[in-house]
Amino acid sequence: MYDIGIIGAGPAGTTLARLVAQKYSVLLLNSGRQKCCGGILAPEAQKILAQLDLAPPKSVLADPMPFAVTIIDANSNLIKHYPRQYININRNNFDQWLLSILPNSIDVRSNAIYKNIETESSNQNDYFTVRFVENGQNKTEKVKWLVGADGGASAVRNQFFNPCKKLKKYIAFQDWHNNNNIEIIPNSIASNINFFHNYVGIFDNNLTDYYCWTIPKDKQLLVGGAIPITNDARDKFEKLKSYLNSIGLKINQIKKQELCLIVRPLSTSAINLGKNQILLVGEAAGLISPTSAEGISSALASAKALADAFNKNKNILNDYKKNIKNVVNNIKLKYLKKPLMFNPVLRRIVMKSCLTALKK
Ligand SMILES: Cc1cc2nc3c(=O)[nH]c(=O)nc-3n(C[C@H](O)[C@H](O)[C@H](O)COP(=O)(O)OP(=O)(O)OC[C@H]3O[C@@H](n4cnc5c(N)ncnc54)[C@H](O)[C@@H]3O)c2cc1C
Repeated sequence: MYDIGIIGAGPAGTTLARLVAQKYSVLLLNSGRQKCCGGILAPEAQKILAQLDLAPPKSVLADPMPFAVTIIDANSNLIKHYPRQYININRNNFDQWLLSILPNSIDVRSNAIYKNIETESSNQNDYFTVRFVENGQNKTEKVKWLVGADGGASAVRNQFFNPCKKLKKYIAFQDWHNNNNIEIIPNSIASNINFFHNYVGIFDNNLTDYYCWTIPKDKQLLVGGAIPITNDARDKFEKLKSYLNSIGLKINQIKKQELCLIVRPLSTSAINLGKNQILLVGEAAGLISPTSAEGISSALASAKALADAFNKNKNILNDYKKNIKNVVNNIKLKYLKKPLMFNPVLRRIVMKSCLTALKK
């Protein structure tokens, strides 16, 4: 029997496990799957890492460190550069590093996929029997608290809570290209954009009501887009690449293709922190920026907020809600900013003015 069973070993799950390990016995299920991610640490994520006294080692850092974001509005053909300080990381090394600093007392199960809980145990006892598959074998373990840290497609959230209409789902496509397979046509629009150095956000309401991006990483260029889930989502992503081609960014060969689900909370009612003995952290709780899909900061901050509540050991859910207020307020502010970025008319006005509201 464990005090806390944590499903998912992303930034939220590993951070929570590490911060509660002194007081509680912890079971952590690590799927071992690689995460599709842009690997950009925004200032909010840098701040929470500093609060946690965590400095990413060299193996986590990627080149270059973008010092600006360029916004391309494909609907109005406007381009604007904004200064921003990001840290570029190798996302898989980041997750591996967070796993590597866990104390030995935590029972980390590798290649372990959560399935469900035995319902009879949840009704009659003060523990849950968690069913999971570990290295192809069916297993069960008993836990007093169940924490879903299993990302946007959270099985824990889907099993225990009603679907939320305010949580919109997108497919994130992300293709990796070697820089030496990319050509920038001289004197083209693309030649005015530093694709190999900066973060580029592309807004095109014909493709998506969210956004697309390019990110330079270790002599590669990531081209991605969050596209609403429809039958022609892949075609729309291909249209993004045709658009980039039309402005002079010629991409020849794909090195690696990634795809995953990405959730976008449309109001704070999409944020669900859990109930009773079942709690949610990070993207599973809907804690992700509705404007940029930046979610590493909220994953780390929610893990800390829940860990502080566990370590106080009074009214855990209430304390978690109190501790997470700043993160939720920050997400609320982003809802307010959302029309300025995603409404084509307002976006054009903002980009033509000197306002610097379009930030990640
Ligand atoms: C394409 C893309 C690009 C992004 N780029 C950025 C970026 O540049 N910067 C940024 O800050 N954020 C970015 N995000 C968001 C960010 O990746 C997430 O918000 C963040 O990883 C959330 O952390 P988490 O720990 O809550 O969940 P996750 O990182 O998703 O971790 C969840 C873990 O749970 C595991 N899991 C899932 N189901 C199960 C199961 N049934 N059993 C066991 N384990 C399970 C998963 O495999 C994963 O390891 C991006 C997201 C996407 C999709």
